[in-house]
Amino acid sequence: MEVFNTDGVVLKVRHTGESDRIVTVLTRDRGVISAFAKAARRPKSKLHAGTQTFCYADLTYSKRGDTLNITEAAVKEVFYDLNDDLKTLALAQYFCQLAEELIPPGDTDGEPLRLLLNSLHFLCSRKKPALLIKAITELRLAALAGYAPDIDGCCMCGTEDSAHMYLDCNEGVFYCKTCGGEFKGAHLGHAAFAAMRHIVAAEFDRIYAVRLMDDAMPELSAVAERYMLSQTERGYSTLTFYRSIE
Ligand SMILES: [Zn+2]
Repeated sequence: MEVFNTDGVVLKVRHTGESDRIVTVLTRDRGVISAFAKAARRPKSKLHAGTQTFCYADLTYSKRGDTLNITEAAVKEVFYDLNDDLKTLALAQYFCQLAEELIPPGDTDGEPLRLLLNSLHFLCSRKKPALLIKAITELRLAALAGYAPDIDGCCMCGTEDSAHMYLDCNEGVFYCKTCGGEFKGAHLGHAAFAAMRHIVAAEFDRIYAVRLMDDAMPELSAVAERYMLSQTERGYSTLTFYRSIE
């Protein structure tokens, strides 16, 4: 039997048995894992609080064969403010579904968890536009999962300072206008292009510092989402829900 402890955010909870939960967690150093939390739905269970969706908790696991059980749960933070409005809640659910789909089990350096924690914090605090947090989460998670676009500039001529750049969302490369970008991809003005490069390539501690004028935000947001959908080649029920209430 192996016992280990790691902190993580609960992405998803399914009910099973009379009072049990199956919990999917984005952990700091083991990627996304699912584990069984026995009797966790009983209000008096020591696992009750720490195994709820959006809870950030220190969890202890015991592994026997292929079965992973949560044996201890210490709550570090609950993002209660996500429930204040439906749009914020829907975005948080979308971030969790993206993390679940894109981060596999296995060793990670902790950045996926830091990204999700920061994004949930900013959603709660409302200190930054929700659309910016959404674009950061989509692009950076895509990059962490190996889907980073080639941000070196136009893939034909190499220019980086064109006022109009175009992202080929299937191939993950940019074209400038001179190289016929408008026939090949989604438009990004200079500010949105610079923001996208920053989000994909900057040191983690700096990615949320990106600043964007209001008129560039819808463009960055639309292209980030389109890019994510195109690269991961699937739909997201949580994104459909978010759109339905937007
Ligand atoms: Zn070019």
